[in-house]
Amino acid sequence: MLKSFLGGIHPKDSKNYTFGKAIEIPPLPKKVIIPVSQHIGAPCVPIVKVGDLVKKGQVIAKSDAFMHSPIHSSISGKVIEVSELPHASRAKCLAVVIENDGLDEWIEGVPLHREWKKLDGEEIKNIIKEAGIVGLGGATFPTHVKLSPSKDKKIDVFILNAAECEPFLTADYRMMLEYTERIVTGVEIVMKVLNVKKGFVGVEDNKPEAVRVMKEAFKGSNVEVVSLPTKYPQGAEKMLIKVLTNREVPVGGLPMDVGAVVQNVGTTIAICDAVVNGIPLIERVTTVSGDAIKEPKNLLLRIGTKFRDVIDYCNGFSKTPEKIIMGGPMMGIAQFSLDVPIIKGVSGIVALSPEAVNSGEESACIRCGRCVNACPMGLIPSMLSILGERQKFKEAKEEYSLFNCIECGSCTYTCPAKRNIVQYVKYLKAQNQAQPVSK
Ligand code: SF4
Ligand code: SF4
Repeated sequence: MLKSFLGGIHPKDSKNYTFGKAIEIPPLPKKVIIPVSQHIGAPCVPIVKVGDLVKKGQVIAKSDAFMHSPIHSSISGKVIEVSELPHASRAKCLAVVIENDGLDEWIEGVPLHREWKKLDGEEIKNIIKEAGIVGLGGATFPTHVKLSPSKDKKIDVFILNAAECEPFLTADYRMMLEYTERIVTGVEIVMKVLNVKKGFVGVEDNKPEAVRVMKEAFKGSNVEVVSLPTKYPQGAEKMLIKVLTNREVPVGGLPMDVGAVVQNVGTTIAICDAVVNGIPLIERVTTVSGDAIKEPKNLLLRIGTKFRDVIDYCNGFSKTPEKIIMGGPMMGIAQFSLDVPIIKGVSGIVALSPEAVNSGEESACIRCGRCVNACPMGLIPSMLSILGERQKFKEAKEEYSLFNCIECGSCTYTCPAKRNIVQYVKYLKAQNQAQPVSK
């Protein structure tokens, strides 16, 4: 019997828009805008200048920091601009703009074929690092760092996070059906690097076809495919670890503290492509959905393609969107421009009409307790929102476990007073991180 996690919610999954839509490859963009920061950690520094000719897969920005991930050109062409430009998760970011030469030529030596089983763990991690792979579920944590736990952390289990619990998103689902073999190889590679003998694939039970395909693919291996009850945020790492292994990541801790490493579906495919074929991370599968998109689709997109071009390929908007979100509606980031490019962490673009947006005026907390019941981390979200309003930064951190909040949005979703609890949490965290606070 599977253990469940505390709280959680059951939002309408709205996956029907793209559930049956096979992954399409749109025509190449005329130009790409490639930000030099697409990961958690140090931004990269451009190593190309205006006028340079580049090939697909060529490194165009890098850094010496351990916590970084290099950036590659996603097309062949000419660098026409290097400047601060709009970015999907921050106001602006330095970006390299490349005009497409239409040839789509790889850098020399790519793709190749490696007998990856002959490589050792360090060689594989180095390939993953040089390929610019980061967590593609949205967190964008550099993968080589995640695969390098300190010596005192004994890792004994690997978990493939195939829950895809965010409403509307079906990119992982489609990849499980269409890129099955690459997932299996990616999982084998990760388990070799970590030297673990036990693996899990966690899939929510609203995707029975993916459960079936994954069970078939991993039959006879030491990887167990588990159909999980559909409950948001099942795909949060801490929830998945709890449900699959009954281990609890300590407050302020990481999965490696309980012997686990978790990777997303798209990330394991990128690992397979890099290690077996020498292909760096230059494209990703993104779901384009929502009731305001005329033809919702799952698309394989080159990094740097503008949101506007992506939405045009889906025949534009069916109605004026009230909100356009990068990622899913629970944890995604609202966008104010369609001129931002696809970056490595864009799992979805969701455009919602005014009727589909749960908008309205925020009012005072009525102490109904719904947010407390919904919180998977056992926090008191109502208090966090009140402390945010009152700017009680220290109290939120020390007495209400502020940093244990995973920003899943379950509290905000359930709140009848429409309180922007996650916004308050982000504000409180930022203030605590900015400087030692006395309040
Ligand atoms: S956003 Fe934070 S406080 Fe709100 S439900 Fe999720 S973990 Fe709890
Ligand atoms: S759900 Fe909203 S109104 Fe109810 S206790 Fe939480 S913050 Fe207050």
